[in-house]
Amino acid sequence: MDMAYTILIFVFGLVFGSFFNVVGLRVPKKESIVFPPSHCTTCQRQLTAIDLVPVLSYLFLGGKCRGCGQKISWIYPLMELLTGGLFAFSYWRIGFSQEFVVALLFISLLIIIVVSDFAYMLIPDKVLFFFLPLLALGRVLSPLTPWWDSIVGAVVGFSILYGIAVVSRGGMGGGDIKLFFLLGLVLGTLQTLLTLFIAAVIGMVVGIVVLKVRQQGRKTPVPFGPSIALAAVLVYFYGNVLIDWYVGLW
Ligand SMILES: [Zn+2]
Repeated sequence: MDMAYTILIFVFGLVFGSFFNVVGLRVPKKESIVFPPSHCTTCQRQLTAIDLVPVLSYLFLGGKCRGCGQKISWIYPLMELLTGGLFAFSYWRIGFSQEFVVALLFISLLIIIVVSDFAYMLIPDKVLFFFLPLLALGRVLSPLTPWWDSIVGAVVGFSILYGIAVVSRGGMGGGDIKLFFLLGLVLGTLQTLLTLFIAAVIGMVVGIVVLKVRQQGRKTPVPFGPSIALAAVLVYFYGNVLIDWYVGLW
C-alpha cells in the first residue's frame, strides 16, 4: 500500500462524494445533474467555489448557508467522508486491480441510493439502471468463483425481496427489490443472503431506536436503503470472514 496513493484516492473520493450528493438529490426530482449549478434549496443562492470544497466548506460555514443561514444537513459531509474513506479502504484492501473498479462502482451506487433514500424515501430506477451494466461488466472482467454465482445471486436476491413485498403487501419498496438484483450480481448468492440478514437486523435496531427517540409512535417510516447499504459494504469486505467464522462454529 502506497500512502501517497491512499491520500490521493481519499481526496478523489471526497470530490466524488460531493457529486453523489447532487446526483442522489436531483435524479429523483428529475432534475439535470449539471444544470442549474449547485444552489441553496431555500434561498437559491448559487454556491461559489469555496462552498463546494467537500467537508471543509461545511465546517467552515458552520453547517449553514452563507446567503440565508438555512441549516445544511450533516448527511452531506458525512456522505463525502464515507465515499472518501471507503474508496481509500478499497485501495488498501484490494489494491489496483479489476476488482478495485468493481469496489468503486459498488460504493458509488450505495452512497447515491442512501442520499436518495434519506431525502425522499426512494431508490431511483435511473441510478439502478445506470449501474446495472457497469457492475455486470465489472463482474465479467473480475468474476466471482464460480462465475455463475453472480447470476444466481441476482435472481435469488430479487426473488426473495419480491416475495417479501408480496407477502407484506408493499412493506418493501420496488427500489429495494431491484437493488437486491444488483447486490446479488456483485456479492453472489451466499453473501446476498447474509446481506439481507444483516440489513434486517440493522433495520430492526434502527427502527427501535427511532421509535424511542421520537416517543409517541409518530409513524414516519424509516428508509431501509441505508441499512441495506451498510450491510452490503460490511459483507463485500468481510462476508467471507463472517461465513468462515460461522462455519467454524459447527
Ligand atoms: Zn440559502
